[in-house]
Amino acid sequence: MNKLLYRKLICSFLILFSSAVFAQDLPRHNPVPGGVAIVDLKNNDNMAPKVYFLKRRVMVVKGKNDHWQAVVGIPLSLTAGKHKISIKAADKKMLGFKVTSKEYELRNITISNKRKVSPTKADLDRHSKEKPLMVAALKTWTEQQQVPASFILPVKGRLSSEFGLRRTYNKQKRIRRHTGLDIAAPNGTPIVAPAKGRVILTGEYFFTGGTVVIDHGQGLITLYCHLSKTDVKAGDELLQGEHIGEVGSTGRVSGPHLHWVVSLNNTKVEPKLFLPE
Ligand SMILES: [Zn+2]
Repeated sequence: MNKLLYRKLICSFLILFSSAVFAQDLPRHNPVPGGVAIVDLKNNDNMAPKVYFLKRRVMVVKGKNDHWQAVVGIPLSLTAGKHKISIKAADKKMLGFKVTSKEYELRNITISNKRKVSPTKADLDRHSKEKPLMVAALKTWTEQQQVPASFILPVKGRLSSEFGLRRTYNKQKRIRRHTGLDIAAPNGTPIVAPAKGRVILTGEYFFTGGTVVIDHGQGLITLYCHLSKTDVKAGDELLQGEHIGEVGSTGRVSGPHLHWVVSLNNTKVEPKLFLPE
């Protein structure tokens, strides 16, 4: 083989190989409040640009077209219409994307443990000590090039309460948004990591009961609540499908289930967008 042809072959192999390394699965594009927008930055520089939405750092990964893609978590409270991400590159610029509206159903939930709906002063004091731990965990940002964004279901069961529902507890007037996906399963059903990640927080909290938080990189964080048993600790590295604990009914619940939260740029989004259709 002549030298030039050999070089050309090596070159095309390297290009193929490098794009294979960088291109990765993305969540589904669903630009609604509580959804995810995939915004093509139309840029294939070596370095990923830094992108922000509502002053929060946003995940940026290489798409299959070799362009950098911003993977933007959209708050449930955001109004439909045109919104902008800001790109901190050599030439600082803004890029627009459109958010369409979505109606979420209103539902009442009956909680028999009244203290979980109308907590005592001591309960609220306990909650105010626990809350900052959760707030800090959801803000975690870990630099890494590849982010595992195609998930498997963390538990086998029935989807009992959808993400985004507007809910009242025990017919009280106050409306709260359901910021996770509920999977009902018997006490003791195993829960697994939906994707590779690192455990960053575990604990027993007033509202969320037995809780595990996993960091998957670049602001993609998942949260598991109401566990009867936790079998991991902060610092544990997990592979997709690895056991983390068991379904329970600890915290504010109406029965045994897993309350599963997916957070992107510190914004809770629809977990189903990370699962196969
Ligand atoms: Zn829930």
